[in-house]
Amino acid sequence: MKDKKLTTISTNKAQRLAQIELAVHRLESSPLYAYRIEHGYKPVIGEGNPSASILFIGEAPGEKEALSGRPFVGRAGQVLDEMLAIISLNREDVYITNIIKDRPPHNRDPKAPEIACYSPYLIEQIEIIDPKVIVTLGRFAMNFILRQFSLPEYGETIGNLHGRVLTAESDLGLIQIIPLYHPAAIFYNRSLEATLFEDFKKLAQFT
Ligand code: URA
Repeated sequence: MKDKKLTTISTNKAQRLAQIELAVHRLESSPLYAYRIEHGYKPVIGEGNPSASILFIGEAPGEKEALSGRPFVGRAGQVLDEMLAIISLNREDVYITNIIKDRPPHNRDPKAPEIACYSPYLIEQIEIIDPKVIVTLGRFAMNFILRQFSLPEYGETIGNLHGRVLTAESDLGLIQIIPLYHPAAIFYNRSLEATLFEDFKKLAQFT
């Protein structure tokens, strides 16, 4: 009986996530829509378990992601997969998404109007998935989430906050927020690799 109820909840969540996918596909008002069409890219909505306890939020799709329509399938994704494996998780156990759902030209930093355009979809994804833990990957996701949850740490640097377990109160109840460096950061600064892996291990307590 309980299993049937859980299955129904998961199906409802998957249906609601599918509606977001459809809406983003049709999002002609996005500043990145024309670029998507011109290059034959796909929007990247997210993937994983709609009832996951852990939600990862990255920045924006790169080219591999925009060609496949899947988040974190390039080099940064390999790092993410390796880290998940260390705590005995795979992609099907968690949910992975980004703030920005379309690839910005040349992987440049997201602009404020782009964040404004896609963030309602991210907020809805958070409400649907209702995770225990949100892991932000990189400073853009960190800043957005700290602000969204009105955390007093908003404005502090990722250098100060990485690996800390912050607690936010929200309509969803208590939620833990863990800012991590972006997995791609280690390609530019090798010394961050050990830190990123050490920080990541803190997630094991939530699995
Ligand atoms: N970097 C991100 O932030 N997101 C992806 O999906 C891929 C690379």
